[in-house]
Amino acid sequence: MKRDYYEILGVSRNATDSEIKSAYRKLAIKYHPDKNPGNKEAEEKFKEIQEAYSVLSNPEKRAYYDRFGHAEGIGGQGFGGGFSDIPLNDLEDILFSFFDSDPFGSSHRRRSRSARNPQRGADLRYDLEISLEEAFAGVEKKIKIPRLETCEECGGIGTEKGTRPETCITCRGTGQVTYRQGFFSVSRTCMNCRGTGQFIRTPCKSCRGTGQIEKEKTLHVKIPAGVDTGSRIRIAGEGEAGKYGGAPGDLFVVIHVAEHETFKRQGSDLYVSIPISFAQAALGAELKIETLDGEATLKIPAGTQTGTIFRIENKGMPILGGKGRGDLFVGVTLVTPKNLTKEQRQLFERLAEIESQEESSFTKKIRNIFGK
Ligand SMILES: [Zn+2]
Ligand SMILES: [Zn+2]
Repeated sequence: MKRDYYEILGVSRNATDSEIKSAYRKLAIKYHPDKNPGNKEAEEKFKEIQEAYSVLSNPEKRAYYDRFGHAEGIGGQGFGGGFSDIPLNDLEDILFSFFDSDPFGSSHRRRSRSARNPQRGADLRYDLEISLEEAFAGVEKKIKIPRLETCEECGGIGTEKGTRPETCITCRGTGQVTYRQGFFSVSRTCMNCRGTGQFIRTPCKSCRGTGQIEKEKTLHVKIPAGVDTGSRIRIAGEGEAGKYGGAPGDLFVVIHVAEHETFKRQGSDLYVSIPISFAQAALGAELKIETLDGEATLKIPAGTQTGTIFRIENKGMPILGGKGRGDLFVGVTLVTPKNLTKEQRQLFERLAEIESQEESSFTKKIRNIFGK
């Protein structure tokens, strides 16, 4: 007595294709002979799973099975089933999930799966350096990108005008050659036609048969205010052309904001260091600070120490895609004057006298503490 196919895969009778596929994958991996060497029971289970899936993954066979069950089968022969009926991609999925890495190289997988099917063009990356001012205000940039476009001469077919591609003899146009490897039948990309299934006898002269031509395209890219190094701007459809009528890829513009002479940036905050004089530090002052959008005023109190950091709110970078701005942090550094004028010199000498008097009384105090 044969078990019900739905029962074998553990799915309901109205399971979707993807539910069936995912149930099959799980079970096939679990009971695969490579994972259960010498286990007869696992091998039987594995065969049972294959058979169930070969029927339920095929809409016509599934409909037939739903109506007639095991008894009739197709043409009274039963479903048979097995690997030959399972779509190759599903088998490949199983194979690939056994190996951590793709055993045939990812290029094989990509090509074999998409032979003759529309193939989306590759995404492109363009690294763009802008200044901090440009990141602050937003900017439109003109960029030139080299990329593969469909050859106009042959319309992407790759053959000389008036000729057509011929069917590849090695793979009979399938793009794949199949051979058996133990329990599995494995397909590989046909090397003769590189998986296209076609052979070009007289290649197009302008694209040398590839169907694509490298061209430089100029694009205008709008860069929003507030971008930072690592920000990515996606421009849909501006990547490489697709193959066999596939959609083009996307272009990703990756932003690099150049170091600024004056300002350091951290997220949406800016940092700047400004010099102040002894007098400003001692007496307090109102300082004019150049920001990325005009002047700002900073009041420092009397007795400000070197290295003190003040914060001016909302004078930092705009927040990307949001509202508001970061802050500006101003660090002050006391600068010792050089080349004093006569008057300044006199004033500092007077200051020094006062300080030495204070210091001598200070030294006396210290001596008293230590009893000397
Ligand atoms: Zn061409
Ligand atoms: Zn071929």
